[in-house]
Amino acid sequence: AKRSGRNRYSFFTADLEASSARALMLENALHRALERQQFALHYQAQVALQTGQIVGAEALLRWQHPEWGPISPAEFIPIAENSGMIIAIGEWVLATAARDAKRWLDQGIGLRTVSVNLSAVQFRHPQLLEMVSRCLDEAQLPGHRLELELTEGAAVDDPASALDVMTQLHERGAHLSMDDFGTGYSSLNQLKRFPLGKLKIDQSFVRDVHEDANDRAIISAIIHMAQALGMRTTAEGVETEAQRAFLLEQGCDEGQGYLFSRPLPVAAFEALLHQQQS
Ligand code: C2E
Ligand code: CA
Ligand code: CA
Ligand code: CA
Repeated sequence: AKRSGRNRYSFFTADLEASSARALMLENALHRALERQQFALHYQAQVALQTGQIVGAEALLRWQHPEWGPISPAEFIPIAENSGMIIAIGEWVLATAARDAKRWLDQGIGLRTVSVNLSAVQFRHPQLLEMVSRCLDEAQLPGHRLELELTEGAAVDDPASALDVMTQLHERGAHLSMDDFGTGYSSLNQLKRFPLGKLKIDQSFVRDVHEDANDRAIISAIIHMAQALGMRTTAEGVETEAQRAFLLEQGCDEGQGYLFSRPLPVAAFEALLHQQQS
């Protein structure tokens, strides 16, 4: 037993070493990714469930490494957060999304809003407001065309300063939404005090909606609570017609997911907007 225990242990450390070696390798490569122009934004349509119209888009960051190929944001975003690089990378995302949104407005295919994900690390950064403001000014994009997606983690640790930051961003004109809603720990009491315009219902609730009565009940409760608090709702990960129909029936405002469109490279997303326009 001792022997196998020891074997298991060394197996475990070998795994751990391999994964931290990979993390280190990615971290080193991330340092150069911005200047080497290895990042791109893809855009995913946000569709009004009542009309089927594309009313918004979420910017999703893509990293294409010349040797290793595409690396998932689920893997590199945490590394960028832990090393602080998320601040510079996040500024690039904001600046790029603001320029794209402005170009679409000028082309007459403008959206109500373009959404950008903000990590909790960015949210706590003392210069966040200046950074957002600078990106809007440089792109000449009106603040109300930008939506910032926050996670519950950004708000729960220090609700008082979270309220401060949200209020400042809101006064600069930006819309705020709560991402992955239902997976965190924010209290209803906090929620109603924040200047949030929208809750994004996490895709884990949407996934099994046809089979799981609990998930249906949770979705329904989130939508009705949001309505009571004067907030809109967007469902994430909508893949099937049955999910769309259920969400529409429950009064969900918008849907996002493969049923409508995958996240697309900027040229393909622009083509989709032009197609909708004509
Ligand atoms: P998220 O903000 O919850 O983004 C939604 C994720 O769901 C995206 O994964 C999207 O591609 C995926 N998705 C969209 N529709 C469907 C669907 O119908 N089915 C399924 N199964 N998945 C769908 P992605 O692009 O891999 O991004 C993963 C996460 O990485 C994001 O989750 C977000 O937390 C983070 N992320 C992405 N871009 C940025 C960024 O610019 N800044 C920060 N801070 N985080 C980002
Ligand atoms: Ca998001
Ligand atoms: Ca989400
Ligand atoms: Ca997520």
